[in-house]
Amino acid sequence: MTLSFDPSTIDIPKGHHIDGRYIDLPGEDIRVLRPSDLQLMGMITDGGEAAVDLAVEAAKAGLKHSGWTRLAPRERGAALMRFAALIEENAVYLGQLEAMGSSRLISMTITRDAVRTAGVVRYYAEFCDKIEGTVTATDGNSLSLVKNEPYGIVGAIVPWNFPMITAAWKFAPALAAGNAVVMKTSELTPHSLLALAELAANAGLPRGLFNVVNGYGHTTGAAIVRHPDIRKISFTGSTQTGAAIMSLAAQSGIKPVVLELGGKSPQLVLSDAGDLDLVATRIAAAFMDNAGQVCTAGSRLIVEDRISDELISKIVARTKAIAAGPTWDETTTFAPIISQKQHDRIDTMVRQSISEGASALVGGTTLESRNQGNFYAPTILENVSETNVGFREEFFGPVLTVSSFSDLDEGLAQAAHPIYGLAASIHTTDIKKALKAADAIESGMVWINQHGRGPEFTYPAGGFKGSGFGKDMGRAGIEAFLRQKAIWVNYG
Ligand code: NAD
Repeated sequence: MTLSFDPSTIDIPKGHHIDGRYIDLPGEDIRVLRPSDLQLMGMITDGGEAAVDLAVEAAKAGLKHSGWTRLAPRERGAALMRFAALIEENAVYLGQLEAMGSSRLISMTITRDAVRTAGVVRYYAEFCDKIEGTVTATDGNSLSLVKNEPYGIVGAIVPWNFPMITAAWKFAPALAAGNAVVMKTSELTPHSLLALAELAANAGLPRGLFNVVNGYGHTTGAAIVRHPDIRKISFTGSTQTGAAIMSLAAQSGIKPVVLELGGKSPQLVLSDAGDLDLVATRIAAAFMDNAGQVCTAGSRLIVEDRISDELISKIVARTKAIAAGPTWDETTTFAPIISQKQHDRIDTMVRQSISEGASALVGGTTLESRNQGNFYAPTILENVSETNVGFREEFFGPVLTVSSFSDLDEGLAQAAHPIYGLAASIHTTDIKKALKAADAIESGMVWINQHGRGPEFTYPAGGFKGSGFGKDMGRAGIEAFLRQKAIWVNYG
């Protein structure tokens, strides 16, 4: 069966999804374009405060009438299991929506993104009856209980690069913990999240628990952060927006935040890395997958000088073996850039980097494609000094900087970044060196002989320093949506 499809045949969700149904609300019209060919996918409105207010009222009513927080945990789990099953049943439709609206390729969105979204919901459904508290040490006349409670209503804001899966990392644990959710994805990619909210309602999730509002960040996103009845914010996006959200949350009732932010992740390759063809394939994929629009993209290659020329020439060869094209064509292997604005930002940064002393080994230009979409050529830059924009800032595009070192300490010094600390990978067959390097690198995630997290949901993802704090996924992912209450009983 071919995965390719005709985008004109797909139903596009319309409206905000609040209180278990689609609702039209007045607001500025936003045209949502397909990044592959810049044709109109659908219209949404910027819901702003009115949409967020409505969603919060629905969440309050939903929590009250369903008793979600106080429900037997296995019943909450069962509702989420039904939701997961429905996501799986609708994986083709969800994958098609995701492929039309984002930079994700149809070869990935059904079998990987949609199926993993179902997996995330199922993983957290299984947690519902495993949320436990503790009894702490006291004298014989007292009982000290520590309970883990949901916050009530939580807000979640996510970006456009993996719209379904980054959303699921937040709504699934939030719901499993007993909260109601008001969330927003990027105004560039609203449709797959709306479809997920519809499936949640169809699966019988009580109305009002899972609300999706559409709109811009500075209006609708900020209204979520400011709302006095939203108790916690979980955000994924750029470091700059994360800082603005943290500041707004501090002014809006000292609201706790989880921030999953940008990165500038190094790929450190030692001369004993092994099969260089395999290593080159991994390194190339780590900066070209999703056209580099991945928070953990391996955007800095730091390679031991003895193998540097050979490895770089193999990576350059792989940049030429790509097929850029529509995301709904299963033969496409190289993704478009999400928008003209993002394309131009990458191009401007590459040009600035070159004007500051870098040289392009390959790329550095717009890529001709089979249609009108925004494609940027895989680009490799060398001679990128620590003051160069190409070192300091995240491209969030298919750009790799390369540098070399002669001993591991020098390599580790190059791997350190003054701002970011999201992820890093080390490629070597020497386990001692690998583990020492992993200890030395200041980043929230370190991978050895691969770049990118594995498929398991157990693995907590999140960064250090300017890459944020708090974790999505794993046990930490649900703990983020629980707060501890200490209860003291005097029975003396
Ligand atoms: P962005 O920060 O521009 O926007 C992210 C979301 O925040 C969007 O929904 C946007 O509408 C909203 N937003 C923007 N301004 C806001 C404001 N003032 N108040 C409230 N909400 C606001 O990021 P983007 O361009 O959509 O995504 C790319 C960025 O996301 C990159 O920096 C990337 O590294 C990061 N990212 C991080 C992770 C991670 O897990 N660490 C994962 C994916 C993406």
